[in-house]
Amino acid sequence: STEPPYCGRFAPSPSGPLHAGSLVSALASFLDARAHHGRWLVRIEDIDGPRTMAGAAEQILQSLDRFGMRSDTPPIWQMQRLAHYEHALERLIEAGRVYPCGCTRKEIADSLTNLRERHQTLAYPGTCRDGLHGKPPRAWRLRVPDGEDAVIRFEDRWLGPQQQDLASEVGDFVLKRADGQWAYQLAVVVDDADAGITDIVRGADLLDSTARQIYLQRCLSLPTPRYLHVPVVNDAYGEKLSKQTEAQAIDDAHPLEALAAASRHLGLLKASEATTLDAFYGIAIEEWAAKFEQPSEGRPPGP
Ligand code: GLU
Repeated sequence: STEPPYCGRFAPSPSGPLHAGSLVSALASFLDARAHHGRWLVRIEDIDGPRTMAGAAEQILQSLDRFGMRSDTPPIWQMQRLAHYEHALERLIEAGRVYPCGCTRKEIADSLTNLRERHQTLAYPGTCRDGLHGKPPRAWRLRVPDGEDAVIRFEDRWLGPQQQDLASEVGDFVLKRADGQWAYQLAVVVDDADAGITDIVRGADLLDSTARQIYLQRCLSLPTPRYLHVPVVNDAYGEKLSKQTEAQAIDDAHPLEALAAASRHLGLLKASEATTLDAFYGIAIEEWAAKFEQPSEGRPPGP
């Protein structure tokens, strides 16, 4: 069997401009694609209405352009793909893998009597698995397996072997929310498969979602890509940088400085000394390839 050609992606949520953390994810996914002579796509994850900031997507695309990272196909916008998420949900309904859930957040929290559980991410206790108990349907949940089948294992290219027990750590998870919006987990799996993504390179803050995504791929008979999660960028207080913590937008008027910081974060020390964008990518692709042991012959020059 021949392997599908490498295709990677950067999938920002347009809740604000690029910041030091999202630049690291963009750069790592771009370098991995180029080190494999592969394609690289940008997907705008704009289905989370309340979090989307007007103009942020355009700003992100423009910054990426200034940084020399351009999508090999026109960017994909999740808002234009809603019919595909609906179709996936219909397949899961037909297969009996999902059920409507009538629980509110408060009811779920109240049903977990154990204090420790309450303070951690709540594993849904499965209240509506066997019916709505007279409550109106709010969300659609995917049934996760029990016992040993619930343990999802995968090899992360940066972090090594990983595993998560979906039954005890996650529970039946939401695919369509009570407010009618598609959950990130479903959209990302459908989109990655439709685009032929072979390698997902992103921040380690998403490591915890990977087992859910792999399970969903299996339920939909979709291939599982390879995964590589890069260390997150923390602020001076040790908190992960995110748009929610009001991370500063990066200065795309001085792309080399921001790229140098991002590449140092990834452990690419020579690239950070480059004085032109072309030189930066030439060195960074080499360093990345060496770090992940890709053959270096015949690599085209950087962008
Ligand atoms: N849109 C997600 C975020 O910005 C990333 C999705 C992904 O890479 O799977 O956090």
